[in-house]
Amino acid sequence: MARGLAESTNGEVLLLEAGGDGNEPRFIESGIENLFQSWFTESDWQLKTTPQVGLDNREVLINQGKVLGGGTAINAMMYLRGSRHNFHEWYEISGYDESWSPDHFQNMFLELESCLGDYGEDSLRGKSGRIKISQPPHPSASASAFLESCQSLGYQRGDFNGSDQNERCDYMQLIIDNQAKRSSTANAFLRGDDLPTNLTIRCNTDVESLMIENGKCLGICLNSGENLLGENVVLSAGALQSPALLMKSGIGPKAELEAARISCQVNSPMVGKNLTDHMRVMLAYRSTTDPGATNFLCEAALFTRSGLNAGPETDLQINFSAGVDGFVAEEFVPDGGLEHSVIFVPVLGRPRSRGSIVPKSISDNEQITFEINPGYLEDAKDLEVYKKGLETARQIANSEAMKPYCGEELCPGKHFDDADYLRKYATTIWHPVGTCAIGSSEKAVCRPDFSVRGVENLSVVDGSVLPSITSGNPQGAIFAIAFSAIKRLSH
Ligand SMILES: Cc1cc2nc3c(=O)[nH]c(=O)nc-3n(C[C@H](O)[C@H](O)[C@H](O)COP(=O)(O)OP(=O)(O)OC[C@H]3O[C@@H](n4cnc5c(N)ncnc54)[C@H](O)[C@@H]3O)c2cc1C
Repeated sequence: MARGLAESTNGEVLLLEAGGDGNEPRFIESGIENLFQSWFTESDWQLKTTPQVGLDNREVLINQGKVLGGGTAINAMMYLRGSRHNFHEWYEISGYDESWSPDHFQNMFLELESCLGDYGEDSLRGKSGRIKISQPPHPSASASAFLESCQSLGYQRGDFNGSDQNERCDYMQLIIDNQAKRSSTANAFLRGDDLPTNLTIRCNTDVESLMIENGKCLGICLNSGENLLGENVVLSAGALQSPALLMKSGIGPKAELEAARISCQVNSPMVGKNLTDHMRVMLAYRSTTDPGATNFLCEAALFTRSGLNAGPETDLQINFSAGVDGFVAEEFVPDGGLEHSVIFVPVLGRPRSRGSIVPKSISDNEQITFEINPGYLEDAKDLEVYKKGLETARQIANSEAMKPYCGEELCPGKHFDDADYLRKYATTIWHPVGTCAIGSSEKAVCRPDFSVRGVENLSVVDGSVLPSITSGNPQGAIFAIAFSAIKRLSH
């Protein structure tokens, strides 16, 4: 978005990033080992939830990118647009604002994507955008068996980023170029010799709060004590930190702000509310045959419906990959010696549980901290849908094509029943959204044009503005809204 704004206006654009510039192989090469060199390092915010009631009171660690490109520099690279039903829902919530219409999303995807293969519905896919999209160059033999197995169960092999997502399976589409380099937003938009001259990038620069005066945003305050003035401020700190920055600046639910001794400038009750996240759990098998090696956390996937939710959206995503060394916890392989394995990862696609981010200040001297409570599995229906996800994955595992790769079920296996296993092991797949959602309602934090209600010259553009979570990994939809925001904000 920073590049797009610089290219489409004459103004000066300043991009601030708390982390480093990420111009290192671990943020550029796509292999799995690079993920392990990025997570739990200085390039990861390593945020933690409150004890989760639905998860046996476990606290969950949520990795989040702290580096130029944010999550896209450290993520698993899966590229999903989301289901067209998601876009219909948002269009309605926006009060039928054209830039939230399914057609508009389709146009944004065409602009941003550069699909390097034909995944079946070529005419619907972008070919010349900056985000490169490709399938795993060398999928394992077991990934091919996974697709054969899904097809034998009646699922269609097809482009889940095409006209429909439901009941489709295929190799995963990844944000990688044809040399398997990561097409993060930093790599795609913020490097090279052709950066617009009116774009300045400042890394290692931590924003503390926004300067709000008489209902106007005048600029931002840095952690270092420096203040920067600006005509327009766009907050893109992600769904866990954009609401926190708003609240630190006095924009949020009045009672909660005052309880944390923050003076309320704008009573905006939905800031930090509506937190929604996808969850994952691992169903792993010991393989009697070498499943092949993988370089990606997900090589292929199936999108399906549990039948337990009323809406037409896909509510289950089953990711698959050949096993990666050390991924199956030791407690599930007490005798050690796991030579070959395969991994199914059911993802709860349309969780009903909602959570919040709430400010807390402990004493006069201490900094404001925030309690992140995604409310995982608090809605009982989510657990039922999730159990269905494990059931579907097992059906695939038990089919003829998968037999050589799916011997003993390692986890949950005989160790736990499914509900217990989910409560003890299900965790985030790092997709928080929804905490500064747009909407036509006066209560919505942002208007459909991304401006923050109650404050002039301030917009939010990141995963926090999505009114609900996408059926599938969210970065595709977040790229699309950034493209949309360029058009709105450059006018
Ligand atoms: C480990 C992991 C795996 C994932 N896998 C996938 C996947 O395979 N597919 C997919 O679609 N999605 C995936 N995601 C999610 C995806 O990356 C995010 O949804 C997406 O990056 C969110 O974009 P955003 O712009 O909302 O926020 P972010 O990408 O989080 O960007 C926010 C940026 O703001 C910066 N920032 C925050 N606070 C401050 C501050 N106070 N001052 C200055 N800078 C600040 C951060 O450092 C960061 O660079 C994954 C995420 C993670 C963490």
